Amino acid sequence: MHFNIPDTQDTIASIATPIGESGIGIVRISGKDALEIADEVFVSKDGFKPSDFKTYTVHYGWIIKDKEIIDEVILTVMRQPKSYTKEDVVEINCHGGIIAMRRVLDLVLAGGCRLSEPGEFTRRAFLNGRLDLTQAEAVLDIIRAKTDSALRVSMEQLRGVLSKTLNSLREILLEALSTIEANIDFPEEELGSVNLKQINEKLIKVKAGLSDILNSSRQGKIFREGIRAVICGSPNVGKSSLLNALLKEERSIVTAIAGTTRDTIEEIIDIRGIPVRLVDTAGIIEPRELVEKKAVERSKNAIKLADLVILIFDGSKRLSREDTFLIAKLKKKQGIAVINKIDLKPKIEIEKIKKRFSLVIEISAKKHKNINLLEDAIANLVYGGKINSSEPIMVSNLRHIEAIREAEKLIAAGANSLDNKLHLELVAEDIKSALGCIDKVLGRGFSEDLLDRIFNEFCIGK
Ligand code: GDP
Repeated sequence: MHFNIPDTQDTIASIATPIGESGIGIVRISGKDALEIADEVFVSKDGFKPSDFKTYTVHYGWIIKDKEIIDEVILTVMRQPKSYTKEDVVEINCHGGIIAMRRVLDLVLAGGCRLSEPGEFTRRAFLNGRLDLTQAEAVLDIIRAKTDSALRVSMEQLRGVLSKTLNSLREILLEALSTIEANIDFPEEELGSVNLKQINEKLIKVKAGLSDILNSSRQGKIFREGIRAVICGSPNVGKSSLLNALLKEERSIVTAIAGTTRDTIEEIIDIRGIPVRLVDTAGIIEPRELVEKKAVERSKNAIKLADLVILIFDGSKRLSREDTFLIAKLKKKQGIAVINKIDLKPKIEIEKIKKRFSLVIEISAKKHKNINLLEDAIANLVYGGKINSSEPIMVSNLRHIEAIREAEKLIAAGANSLDNKLHLELVAEDIKSALGCIDKVLGRGFSEDLLDRIFNEFCIGK
């Protein structure tokens, strides 16, 4: 969808909460006429008008049309510039019914404003300088967050952690650029080595900063360090057979860490480009380890650390008490249920397993059947962002990652040109392009197309 750049001078309104029956629903108005429009539709209990209200105050009253009460509401006034959009904002908390909300909105629109476009409130917050683009995008990510860690990254981004880091790198680049520009007219040999050294140090610093951001990206972490997996299951369900099948199909990347005992040897297998690290020696846990005192700590830890649990069942048998115990134990972990031994007559109550696990893969470890389906499932979880690294993440938005990666490359090229004593103009060009990439992330010198693309993903009312 593409819409023409909306006028930012007019006043906009929309329903800011999901449409449907709910306890309350909010009609939000933003713009220079917001208070005036509210004056027309709202009658407060104490007889004052919204345009008399102090900012950040809440008032009880009614929405009235031709003396008829449409709804009993709570009205909040947030005066510019301290509001979400930096404009005058009025929020009307109505009862959540579809008809009531619709009528309140219609009245407000009739009062002299227009229906907002998707994301237009946040777009205004951006255009009016309250948020930078990474923060505006964070708002969208927060609305959409499906996991705690996704929410955490977005919140950090909204707080401006990424922008702050990028802005400080940007400053360093600008300094380097100005040193170059001041010297650009001098022939190489006359340029002080002090200056060259300074520029070089700055580029190294910026490159390291950009690498840090990239390394802290979710994808970066996963591809660098791998995901940690454990294979769990009752005795004899086929855990070792599955491990062997996976090892056979895939390359085992790392085996031993020198100077350690067999206990700490890790197997890392490469599944569709993702390093999958089996948490301990064999990566295997049986129920007895979760009840036997000695082994409890070790296995609990292994499970806690695991990004992914593969729980195996013997498909040729009915569910055992141990199976049920494991299901209950692992409920909260991101898991894949694997029904093994499909070459035998099925006896397992697969419906019960499907109730607990959204991912159920049927295989035969011994006959190497459907191992690829299990690998697909693991890869999809990772590429689909369902598996999250527990470590801090600064950036998760693909648009940001790509631009930052590009900036990192350009800075590396610039540093290289400097080392090779190429003309300073070339170094300056690389720095300028890198600045362009950083600015793209921050939304400086943005294009309307980019804004349309980003804000169109929002819902109306945000
Ligand atoms: P673990 O105790 O869970 O590690 O189970 P194992 O991998 O040692 O397997 C237990 C038994 O089940 C062995 O005799 C395997 O040969 C057998 N087994 C494993 N996978 C399959 C399978 O897909 N089909 C059949 N028919 N037997 C299997």
